[in-house]
Amino acid sequence: MPQRLSDYLKKEYGEKIYRLSLSSGCTCPNRDGSIYLPDGMPLTGGCTFCSEGGSGEFAADIAPIDEQIEDAKKRIRAKTDAKRFIAYFQSYTNTYGDVSRLKKLYTEAIMRDDVAILSLGTRPDCLGGEVLDMLEELRKIKPVWVELGLQTIHERSAEAFHRGYKLEAFEEAYKNLKARNIDVIVHVIFGLPGESKEDMLATVRYLAGLSPELDGIKLQNLQILKGTQMYEEYKEHPFHILSLDEHVELLSESIAILPENTVVHRMTGDGPRALLVEPLWSLDKKNVLNTINRSVKF
Ligand code: SF4
Repeated sequence: MPQRLSDYLKKEYGEKIYRLSLSSGCTCPNRDGSIYLPDGMPLTGGCTFCSEGGSGEFAADIAPIDEQIEDAKKRIRAKTDAKRFIAYFQSYTNTYGDVSRLKKLYTEAIMRDDVAILSLGTRPDCLGGEVLDMLEELRKIKPVWVELGLQTIHERSAEAFHRGYKLEAFEEAYKNLKARNIDVIVHVIFGLPGESKEDMLATVRYLAGLSPELDGIKLQNLQILKGTQMYEEYKEHPFHILSLDEHVELLSESIAILPENTVVHRMTGDGPRALLVEPLWSLDKKNVLNTINRSVKF
């Protein structure tokens, strides 16, 4: 059985560690036209489910990291009395850009006493040699987590949502990161159009079989957000949206498949409420969490 993130953090760090959402000012190759679709057109709209809000600001606009961290701590003060934090750069592709600028930014973050872990969301095709060297240096200071939005192992679905890279790119990145002792957390989306339950579980089975063992996983249900290409596609050709029961069943079966040391970081989608079109059950967060906690056994 895998472990829950909260249990893992308590065991490893002996205290609650809370995430702070920070911005690196990076953009994404799926949005700036540097990746091409199979028909030769440059990709500028991002993955079809990704909202504009994920784009964040550009380098010139972001606040200094100390300021960002203090502001983020103030924002979550009502929720937690945690003393140490995960410096979490979630939006866009946080290893895409000038490596010396990124190295300075991440070093400033990781060197702070109140930062226990550095976590970077990125893409497998944005982890070249210079970036890997930077991550290896940072890893010597404190743990570094790299989050990869794989979502599915099925090329048909990946092409449909414009992921912009093949499974081999993920395999290469995974091998390179693990060789440098970097923790890898993979995002999976349940409910992509055209995928059967078996397809979704095949993705989980593939990840459960990785060697070395996968460090962490986020299992999220597909959310349709206003302003995305997927929303337009959904309006024209509605497809099946997972019910809460179906999602919970997929979670339970996934937990039974995943290895003991894999940490489960999330079990729901986390899109912005104001943009959510489907599934509406996602809006009742309390009910979703209670149902998951009641039904999914670790
Ligand atoms: S989901 Fe990630 S890779 Fe896809 S467009 Fe959004 S930021 Fe880029």
